Amino acid sequence: MPELPEVETVRRGLEPAMDRARFAKVDVHRGDLRWPLPKDFKERLQGKTVTGLGRRAKYLLADLSSGDVLLMHLGMSGSFHVFREAGGKKLARYHHEREQHAAHDHVVFHMSSGAIVTFNDPRRFGSMKIVPRGKLEDEPLLNRLGPEPLGNAFDAAMLAAACKGKKTSLKAALLDQRIVAGIGNIYACEALHRALLSPKRVASTIASKSGTPNERAERLVDSIKAVLNDAIKAGGSSLRDHKRPDGDLGYFQHHFRVYDREGQRCVTPHCPGIVRRIAQNGRSTFYCPVCQK
Ligand SMILES: [Zn+2]
Repeated sequence: MPELPEVETVRRGLEPAMDRARFAKVDVHRGDLRWPLPKDFKERLQGKTVTGLGRRAKYLLADLSSGDVLLMHLGMSGSFHVFREAGGKKLARYHHEREQHAAHDHVVFHMSSGAIVTFNDPRRFGSMKIVPRGKLEDEPLLNRLGPEPLGNAFDAAMLAAACKGKKTSLKAALLDQRIVAGIGNIYACEALHRALLSPKRVASTIASKSGTPNERAERLVDSIKAVLNDAIKAGGSSLRDHKRPDGDLGYFQHHFRVYDREGQRCVTPHCPGIVRRIAQNGRSTFYCPVCQK
């Protein structure tokens, strides 16, 4: 499952192909993604210009000249590929999984920029939806999402207030999209390690009884922002340094401190700990039992 940094990397990769470009032609090979595409999907895109390509949590939002917004989600296995029309040479692909097959190219955008953007999704958990901009606030996919972790509004006071009185684990709190949007299993583990906080710690212990933040909340917010910014930077440099046209972009370019490092030495300076894996809410948590308290 791509998390915020991967989706942001995809957004930056698609921007040159899609922003300020018109949908010259849209092909739908399979409309039954996570939800069926709307019947008027092609009509509402063809001839319209993308006036901006944004992101909210793990959703890409293409603003259209018609006043509609095209919402796109990669799901579990979705990816975008960008081709150049001349000769159909693949320019780049932006996704997080390796397996690709043209049979899974469900939606194809022919852009006036000359780029052909294909959406490939073997498992079809990805989704696309068109919503009038004026109704975006009521959109059920978006309207319960918490703050953007990299936005100014997300700070220690906000996180502490959201965790006040919460008896769930700190890890579970970070995965709760109503508390903060876009963080998944990998970056929750990474942020907690960087903050030297145990994933098993009770969430309310980063706040006072009245919900004011303590030093742990400050550390955690700083770590979340640092982990996400580093991952976006890694994704961005892999876009810039894209030499192989079939190069993969995604998680494997990043260096994780604890994620998927079970049994290996902790990277915290002078820490003798060994990374451990436990199950929390049915998901693997990787952490160091020595320096994460
Ligand atoms: Zn450690």
